[in-house]
Amino acid sequence: YDDRDGFIWMDGALVPWRDANVHILSHALHYASSVFEGERCYGGKIFKSREHSARLLESGRLMDMPIPLSVDELEAAKAAVLEANKLHDAYVRAVAWRGAGEDMGVAASRNKVRVAVAAWEWGAYYGDAKMQGAKLDIAKWKRPSPETIPTAAKAAGLYMICTMSKHAAEAKGCSDALFMDWRGYVAEATGANVFFVKDGEVHTPLADAILNGITRQTVISLLRDMNVTVHERHIMPEELPGFQQCWLTGTAAEITPVGQIGEHHFQVGQLTRDIASAYEAHVRA
Ligand code: PMP
Repeated sequence: YDDRDGFIWMDGALVPWRDANVHILSHALHYASSVFEGERCYGGKIFKSREHSARLLESGRLMDMPIPLSVDELEAAKAAVLEANKLHDAYVRAVAWRGAGEDMGVAASRNKVRVAVAAWEWGAYYGDAKMQGAKLDIAKWKRPSPETIPTAAKAAGLYMICTMSKHAAEAKGCSDALFMDWRGYVAEATGANVFFVKDGEVHTPLADAILNGITRQTVISLLRDMNVTVHERHIMPEELPGFQQCWLTGTAAEITPVGQIGEHHFQVGQLTRDIASAYEAHVRA
């Protein structure tokens, strides 16, 4: 991703793509002091753009690295990036991190929090699995307790076990891994939330220790508009065989049907197809 034409917004200016670099002694590289957003632009408009900007600022606040920008300034930066790269349908990545500066130890309050926004074309996150039903491995790592790390933040440190779990899943021929949390409840995938269907009703993990995805919240409200009952609750892995359908939600994943988790199989059923088309219509409306 580093060797491309185009422009990336960095700390207030558009810089040529290949020049958007940071110093090796950036605090973030050593201590994971970084938060980010993943957004999708559909037909020139970023879906829930302000919600994503607000979540980035909130992630910074939760991780004690206040981001020196307002929602409006982030909106302007994203618009500038899309315009400079002539993108209409794109993935947008905003990132804020503690740079290099006065400190090189764990404490770094004197190091400036820097911000960048990049955007590029990015199709289906799970490729061919998208409509056939993705195969998920069960991660060996557990999502941590909110007493361990602020789990509501979209923070780089929370993704270390995601990368490890996704590598392990791919090595087994799976598209992704499903995490349980530290209590043993079904939690989320490495970059998406999970939903299940049982006898026409929908069940999804309570957002008490997972990222309460913007797509998750959108999908719950679309389902309720469709008069589908949605239960947000603690789900035990022993319940998996009792569910008939399953899908993942996320900005990148959109609605991706799941065909298999570990040994359990699911159908790509009517409700999965209905919510996928309702979501597609909604993001482009
Ligand atoms: N959980 C995790 C761990 C994620 O990385 C993501 C993607 N941001 C999600 C859930 C879904 O969040 P959203 O719908 O806001 O993209």
